[in-house]
Amino acid sequence: MAKSVFFFGDGRPEGDPKRRDLLGGKGAGLADMSALGLPVPAGFTISTDVCNAFARSGEIPQEARAEVEAALQRLEKAMGARLGDPGAPLLVSVRSGGRASMPGMMDTILNLGMNDAVAEGLAARTASPRFAFDAYRRFVAMHAGIALGVPREPFEEALDLARARVAAAKSIDRTRLNAEELKRAVPDADIPADELRMLVKAFKGAVRKETGRDFPADAREQLWQAISAVFKSWNNHRAVVYRRMHEIPDDWGTACNVQAMVFGNLGETSATGVAFTRDPSTGDKELYGEWLPNAQGEDVVAGIRTPLPIRASGRSGTDSLEAKMPDAFRELERIASTLERHFRDMQDLEFTIQDGKLYMLQCRNAKRAARAAVRVAVDMAKEGLVSKDEAVLRLDPGGIDQLLHPTLDPQAPKKLLARGLSASPGAASGHIVFTADEAERRAGQGKPVILVRVETSPEDIHGMKAARGVLTARGGMTSHAAVVARGMGKPCVAGVSAVAVNYETQTMTISVYDETSPQRGQNPVDTITLKKGDVLTIDGGTGHVYEGAVPTVSAALSGEFGELMSWADGVRTMRVRANADTPLDARTARSFGAEGIGLCRTEHMFFEEERIQAMREMILAEDPTGRGAALAKLLPFQRDDFVGIFREMRGLPVTIRLLDPPLHEFLPTEPKQLEQLSRAMSVPVQKLAQRTKDLHEFNPMLGHRGCRLAVTYPEIYAMQVRAILEAAAQVAGEGGDVHPEIMIPLAMTRGELELTREIVDGVAKEVKDKAGRPIAFSFGTMIELPRAALLAGELAKAAEFFSFGTNDLTQATMGLSRDDAGKFLPAYVETGILPRDPFVSLDQEGVGALVELAADRGRRARAKLKLGVCGEHGGDALSISFFHRVGLDYVSCSPFRVPVARLAAAQAALRARGQNGGPATA
Ligand code: PEP
Ligand code: MG
Repeated sequence: MAKSVFFFGDGRPEGDPKRRDLLGGKGAGLADMSALGLPVPAGFTISTDVCNAFARSGEIPQEARAEVEAALQRLEKAMGARLGDPGAPLLVSVRSGGRASMPGMMDTILNLGMNDAVAEGLAARTASPRFAFDAYRRFVAMHAGIALGVPREPFEEALDLARARVAAAKSIDRTRLNAEELKRAVPDADIPADELRMLVKAFKGAVRKETGRDFPADAREQLWQAISAVFKSWNNHRAVVYRRMHEIPDDWGTACNVQAMVFGNLGETSATGVAFTRDPSTGDKELYGEWLPNAQGEDVVAGIRTPLPIRASGRSGTDSLEAKMPDAFRELERIASTLERHFRDMQDLEFTIQDGKLYMLQCRNAKRAARAAVRVAVDMAKEGLVSKDEAVLRLDPGGIDQLLHPTLDPQAPKKLLARGLSASPGAASGHIVFTADEAERRAGQGKPVILVRVETSPEDIHGMKAARGVLTARGGMTSHAAVVARGMGKPCVAGVSAVAVNYETQTMTISVYDETSPQRGQNPVDTITLKKGDVLTIDGGTGHVYEGAVPTVSAALSGEFGELMSWADGVRTMRVRANADTPLDARTARSFGAEGIGLCRTEHMFFEEERIQAMREMILAEDPTGRGAALAKLLPFQRDDFVGIFREMRGLPVTIRLLDPPLHEFLPTEPKQLEQLSRAMSVPVQKLAQRTKDLHEFNPMLGHRGCRLAVTYPEIYAMQVRAILEAAAQVAGEGGDVHPEIMIPLAMTRGELELTREIVDGVAKEVKDKAGRPIAFSFGTMIELPRAALLAGELAKAAEFFSFGTNDLTQATMGLSRDDAGKFLPAYVETGILPRDPFVSLDQEGVGALVELAADRGRRARAKLKLGVCGEHGGDALSISFFHRVGLDYVSCSPFRVPVARLAAAQAALRARGQNGGPATA
């Protein structure tokens, strides 16, 4: 086995910081920081290879064990202390850390190396028995929970009993307090040393009772147990779920970092905290973060105590780190800027101050809200830290979606109930639920839900995924809820302290304050109790919580966003169009930067009340005269819509697809509708019912649709073409620049195209004669069937452009019904049989091979053949990068995804140019 244990923190690090695959993100960051000479407590990283070996055999290989022993000795030497030595005790943390960040998903043990003798030794050395036994009891509970599998409850109960005794000694009447209030009345720091000593005994008793064995006193035994537990946690349920969601491969494994402990809970000159080099919500360029005096790191991230702001300009300036420990604050600012310059990206830092000295425990590329990601990328390019191309590559196209999220309608009446932290942007309304399982259940029934928790933990991840938004009563901007919701792009309001959650009764009580009173926040004017199922609205952008459902409006884009998009537009080679069916859609699409319409689905124009009647008459007509009369009613509707669309899209191409869907979609299903139709057409109901039955198809997707309609009823396409060309003539007459592209759906032969071309040319001649001048248009087809792809060379002889309809092409190539596959496709993705849902992201190997082949054969037959895609894949970043590779001219997607597509197309172009980089928020 190659070297698998890498020392850091005392001189040059052994590991190469670039080897994140081996060291994990945390290990690589520690190696990087020690190489920069920053104050990092010494330690060593056990590589991901060992994790994988452990997963295979259930054991840590002998060679790796020997390397750990050697590294431990070096660590002991560096620290002048030894694991398990009461005279000079070394305590270590044992932490997981994979290649990609998986916040809170895997396990960590702190204060390892404690036993009775060590605790006494530490008490003597620090002259603080309280500190020593506090660290000891934390270690026993953590190690027992993580490495020995003991449940948390017995520890919680013992802790509550200790609190009750302290309360009694302080003459607090605890009979009036519930467990939560007791926790607030007697914070951890108020539990004295002798109580902590008793707690350790009680904890160890609980371990004996649960496991039938004594808690291990031997520090080496503790260490091996902890390392094994960290490796095992790679495969715990929540980590596996998280990996599926974020497409992280199972075989990456986690590294394990063993590091000398430094203590933030040694007293008032000690502290711990988390910082971002810039504001993770807005991207503002100033150190941002939270800290807690006299505390350990877990207190900040777990949201157990609500942390204080780092900067004096924060929420409560006098409690800030800047005000309380100015030297440490300045040192932290200096380190933050060194790290940003080194990594050329915004960092997320964990630090501890022990007796006034600052130590860096971790740094990594910071997760950030989409708005902040845009701001940081643009600012960093302007600061010269990265190039414009790198700034474009830094953004996660999926994250851009968040920027287009709805916000609350400013005009709508709303009643503010409470305020919390704006932990993750976006607004959402839904029914309140208090457990992740309930969130999943109700969301599965199609109900919007807001998950309300005191604080979230990684066990809640499936509920957060299912919920529209998340509200927590406790925890700060770096709490689990905040970090995970931001990553998911879900609205989240955290730390709403006016909310008291009662899981037993499934209710939440909100103390409502008078916002106009000078004593705002002191005496509640009202309390409101909401129960499971009641409706609430949260605004993750402002941290506000409102009563009931408040309407939302779509987003406006910032100046930086426009700037970044213009950089992206400058490098991309593919055009981006939109799928839009109405003048309004067309306008939205243009405002998002669409460069034309790639798909106008004409059948969507027929669903309105007045139109569907004429459409039904047309379908049910028995002869060309009847059909002609119905078509004559439809013509003006179609023409008016096209006029509206051409006006919106002046100067840009508009691809209009002639009628595609199976006719039965339009047929009446209710007896009442049949009667109405029978009156309008003067045809007996029975006859209509029979005709409707005749038109029924068992597999409509392979039925009488697309250009097959034109083969049997040429007059339908003739009417549509007339509407298109007359509209074009009208808008051209107004001085507009019109570029209609007439597109034939579901073709499989050249013959179908020749037949429809004849219809088109016949109508074009008539329109020209009437208008007195020719109307320019182009004629093309969709490639939606495998035969069309295979015979693309033939089809290209009759078509000036191809647009890949990858929805149908996926359906037909994979034999998967678009309408029914949802029942079983998720299982294909979960089991890994398919990497992704092929209707979301193109099956590049299969369907993609047909696209590539058709593009190639088509262009050989017609060098100037224009190629685009208009299936859903046109808005998916991964698929877009594929389409760039096979040389398509444009992608077309829904208007809201146009910005995502512009960015993804730019990234594809940059990557193809051989530039490196990727989403900064990986
Ligand atoms: C397609 O099949 O990819 C397509 C765009 O057409 P529709 O989704 O309307 O079938
Ligand atoms: Mg289709």
